Amino acid sequence: MYVVMIASECAPVAKVGGLADVVAGLSRELQLRGHAVEIILPKYDVLRADQIWGMQISFENLWVPWDGGSIRCTVWFGFVQGSKCYFIEAHCAQDFYNRGTHYGFWDDPERFAFLSKAALEFMLKSYKRPDVIHTHDWQTALVPVLLTEMYATDGLQHARLCHTMHSFAHQGVCNKHILYAAGLQAPEALVSPDQMGSDFDPHTINLTKGAILYAHQVTTVSPQHAWEVQFTDQGCGLGHTLYQHRDKFTGVLNGLDYAVWNPEIDPHIFQQYTAASFDLKAVNSLALRDRMQLRDDGRPIIAYVGRLDRQKGLHLIRHALQYALANDAQFVLLGSGSEAAINAEFRALQESLIDHPDCHLEIGYDEELSHLIYAAADLLIAPSLFEACGLTQMIALRYGTVPLVRSVGGLKDTVFDWDYAEQPLAQRNGFVFEYPDAPGIESALCRALALWKQQPALFRQLALQGMAYDYSWNQPGQRYLDIYQRAAVPD
Ligand code: ADP
Repeated sequence: MYVVMIASECAPVAKVGGLADVVAGLSRELQLRGHAVEIILPKYDVLRADQIWGMQISFENLWVPWDGGSIRCTVWFGFVQGSKCYFIEAHCAQDFYNRGTHYGFWDDPERFAFLSKAALEFMLKSYKRPDVIHTHDWQTALVPVLLTEMYATDGLQHARLCHTMHSFAHQGVCNKHILYAAGLQAPEALVSPDQMGSDFDPHTINLTKGAILYAHQVTTVSPQHAWEVQFTDQGCGLGHTLYQHRDKFTGVLNGLDYAVWNPEIDPHIFQQYTAASFDLKAVNSLALRDRMQLRDDGRPIIAYVGRLDRQKGLHLIRHALQYALANDAQFVLLGSGSEAAINAEFRALQESLIDHPDCHLEIGYDEELSHLIYAAADLLIAPSLFEACGLTQMIALRYGTVPLVRSVGGLKDTVFDWDYAEQPLAQRNGFVFEYPDAPGIESALCRALALWKQQPALFRQLALQGMAYDYSWNQPGQRYLDIYQRAAVPD
């Protein structure tokens, strides 16, 4: 099969969160299975150029019709960890992708609607005729709409459309003008509430709703989350639409790219190790303490790695920190937020704990350091309020770091409580709590620290059971291929 992924992120060149890991990991898995995959991305000024091999111009002077005129684009080509990537550079006054960061601008809907349009124009004009076009999140949700409404007679009509939602918190709710700018012939028909229109505002459309209506298959990134978005408020207003289209809606657990996340070969950690040489993991703990100037007197390290976003349960992260320090544990955090107020709050916390011998907060994005933390910590917390899939708990499992998570979304699908899970004891791999409040997370932390202190052999067994789990792309890769088959367009 010939698959084109269109996305706003791809690890490691353009990574903000898990979306980037999924685009890169799934693409690699499909290629390993003998399929041809190409990835289309924006050419951000913040691309990690050192991770792109053989960057060269692939298509010069791609004129993309936009908002009554047209914008000249240059399409670049390069290999990212062996995958073929095309990068769209837009030469226009708004400088869509040269903003010093990936997201957070008032015209984000236009920036990414343009990416969707430019990707289709590029495929059309460079005679790419993929079997499958796989789009991701609201940023590229306009592709299925545009392809069906505008490009269906242009040779691209045989492409099967699969759209994956990694987060429902952002849906691309924007002014309907975007549809005119993209050149749709009869946008008024699309603006009604039973199409892409908002239920509340006649001038507003929802790009993700468009993808749900137009894509042949729609997925989200865990079975539990697929249920939550239809039957709880986690669909953020899209529950009814998803339920109506439930025949083509599936939850597929994300995989983890084991070529990147593997303590046996990880170049970013101080000491490589496997389940058989588990004791060597302690060398990384020592290295992390040294780097973060934490005292080394045999306390367990509790870690948090991830975005600092309300979704991640920020009050519970702060509570875990206080609880750890009050209970003879150490706490390490690596995170950055997109909201200035949240960053400021965590910087103040960092400042107040700057000389603490058991605590270190690193505010910022640091891919290499994240590897060392996964390898060094004893416990990793993920107390999310909602979590479509979550990768950090799966990475932790791979590194023999016991995850402690809230029972929600993909966290619920992947972590099974040591004391209470339905699974047999030998298949349990972490700690889980239900209610997103202080007593909830404390109950799990208390049980985890008690096991670590009082029954170290059992804690070690729990960590090794986690390492034995296979959360690679092997199974999800096959699931996506099945979904692509189901998406086949009847001739
Ligand atoms: P989300 O997609 O909501 O951000 P996930 O758990 O699915 O959350 O994916 C998070 C990914 O981003 C993981 O690979 C994690 O290691 C990485 N990550 C998040 N924040 C940081 C950071 N500040 N520094 C390094 N890596 C980070």
